[in-house]
Amino acid sequence: MFDLATRDIKYLPGVGPQRASVLEKELGIRSLHDLLYYFPYKYIDRSRLYYVHEIDGNMPYIQLRGQILSFEETGEGYRKRLVAHFSDGTGVVDLVWFQGQKYVTGKYKVRTPYIVFGKPTVFGGRVNIAHPDIDPADELVLSNMGLQPYYNTTDRMKRGSLNSRAIEKLVTNLRDLIKEPLPETLPDYIIEKNHLVSLTEALMNIHFPKNPEDLRRAQFRLKFEELFFVQLNILRYMKERQQRYQGFVFSRVGEVFNTFYSQNLPFELTGAQKRVIKEIRKDMGCGRQMNRLLQGDVGSGKTLVALMSMLIAIDNGFQTCMMAPTEILASQHYETITRMLYGMNVRVELLTGSIKGKRRTEILNGVLTGEVHILIGTHAVLEDTVSFARLGMAIIDEQHRFGVAQRARLWQKNSTPPHVLVMTATPIPRTLAMTLYGDLDVSIIDELPPGRKPIRTVHQFDNRRASLYADIRRQIQEGRQVYIVYPLIKESEKMDLKNLEDGYQTICEVFPEYKVCKVHGQMKPAEKDAEMQRFVTGETQIMVATTVIEVGVNVPNASVMVIENADRFGLSQLHQLRGRVGRGADQSYCILVTGYKLSEDTRKRIDIMVQTNDGFEIAEADLKLRGPGDLEGTQQSGVAFDLRIANITRDAQLLQHVREIAREVVEKDPDGTAPHHAMMWARLRQMRKSSINWSDIS
Ligand code: ADP
Ligand code: MG
Repeated sequence: MFDLATRDIKYLPGVGPQRASVLEKELGIRSLHDLLYYFPYKYIDRSRLYYVHEIDGNMPYIQLRGQILSFEETGEGYRKRLVAHFSDGTGVVDLVWFQGQKYVTGKYKVRTPYIVFGKPTVFGGRVNIAHPDIDPADELVLSNMGLQPYYNTTDRMKRGSLNSRAIEKLVTNLRDLIKEPLPETLPDYIIEKNHLVSLTEALMNIHFPKNPEDLRRAQFRLKFEELFFVQLNILRYMKERQQRYQGFVFSRVGEVFNTFYSQNLPFELTGAQKRVIKEIRKDMGCGRQMNRLLQGDVGSGKTLVALMSMLIAIDNGFQTCMMAPTEILASQHYETITRMLYGMNVRVELLTGSIKGKRRTEILNGVLTGEVHILIGTHAVLEDTVSFARLGMAIIDEQHRFGVAQRARLWQKNSTPPHVLVMTATPIPRTLAMTLYGDLDVSIIDELPPGRKPIRTVHQFDNRRASLYADIRRQIQEGRQVYIVYPLIKESEKMDLKNLEDGYQTICEVFPEYKVCKVHGQMKPAEKDAEMQRFVTGETQIMVATTVIEVGVNVPNASVMVIENADRFGLSQLHQLRGRVGRGADQSYCILVTGYKLSEDTRKRIDIMVQTNDGFEIAEADLKLRGPGDLEGTQQSGVAFDLRIANITRDAQLLQHVREIAREVVEKDPDGTAPHHAMMWARLRQMRKSSINWSDIS
């Protein structure tokens, strides 16, 4: 048979060059294969008849069998309409037409059996169906109708008469061309063991299912296939990398770690911290290179986990480095870690862009000779001038500011790549992490240190400023500090800056007795850091800022986070911002300020924020509200993410299942040469060719 993937869509009967160009532009459909994989988004059951007395206003579409009792014209001018009173013996519905009245009265007769199809609405206690489809009852064989597919189309397509029905017709034409089964993509044993229908059957039934059971089986097979190849791709890639890269073996837990644990550790580790440290230890001891994502909500104590992992590396004779996205964060880590290691024989240094001259040379020398055990810094750590004697482990904090390319540079610092631990406070639901970061292992800290008071979040409309300012004043009088954050949207940076400036002016006027500082993205880094520092040291009480403060700044004394235009932030961003407070022992507050008019989605976001402090719950909600494509961090993950039929949230269980199967396949056929897998590997190669360059992912 001809190859569907290479046969141009324009040669399909009913298409031609003009429609072909619309299909390509609007839906990306270029070949017959593309059309075949353009699945309906819903189906309407036309095999079932309803009774009038069963109808309520929530039904999507229904089909009735009965007779028109009488016609009636109502209204004047543009309100004119034709109503047919239609009965099936259990009740009466009104069929309504706003146009084409003449045609209707000419075509349909009273007291004649018809089948009526349409969407019911209930209005003033009466059921209406506007512009229904009507067929003579004896002409329609319901058992042959099955489920009717509905396809998404764009406005432009509809204007070119390419509506759902037209697509359906095209797919019918395509079906008629396919005279023999399509090549299978999965090996027989997987098909049998998982009770899958054949690919051909699935593709036919996904478009034209005869009944819900056929549809379910078709969907299952296609979801299975989709998730399976995504996982196979990732696991295969991991295998290739493992074969390429050995890892350092950290077999010992020694003096440094133990001294710290028994003498310096200022508090009990949480259960989650203990578990995660164990996971990391095991991973670094097994002989392959660790590439692990450490997720934990803001304030969950990731720094400590990072530090203790680094101590293991040091115990095994290696150096470590830790990178943060900003200077201020790097110096905070430096201070924290130096303080925690007080009295121990571990040399920690800070390297940022602003450390220059003799000091810099000293540090670089120490790194080169191996005397520096822990190097903390910004991107500066990645510069070519920084050479380590034995870099064994790298920690990357707040990963979404660190591109994939930067991670890759780290690897070039050694012939054997260091173990890598990426820390992020933007929690990603486990199922999504598995799909996106399948090449990274994931550890999760799902527990906060004891004694934290949950942040209280409130929603306030922006006309209640007086009481908002009074609340802020009260907090400052009690010695606390306050953040006020304005949104920043790239397209209108000027306007946002004006927003921020206006806000700054107002705050200065409202609080003349306090010191206010200001930080935004257009400032020079040095200037920005200086302003931040004034807030960190407590010199200023109020910080007016854009989202630049989102990442990791730790000011335990700050207890109020005011977010202006909160409707313009995404959920995970709101959560990140909120995480800047609640770091001390005092009760903290997050105040979300918006106008009165809110969209449904915004209202949901605000409600979730008010209801929960749990980052994972928020991430799940975010995923449901926005869909995975938009989630922060997924862009940078570098994994092509284009699921047609499976849904990460709904099909989480299937995802786990296929991942196991894919794992077995990769284990049993590590070189990808088993003949009974040939079709499958061919499909994978085809997939890789059409997606991104996998070798770029670190
Ligand atoms: P994040 O995960 O956001 O990076 P940090 O590592 O900055 O969180 O930790 C937040 C605060 O919690 C720090 O002040 C840290 O000292 C403290 N902390 C960490 N672990 C514990 C623990 N097990 N018990 C009590 N406090 C802890
Ligand atoms: Mg942190």
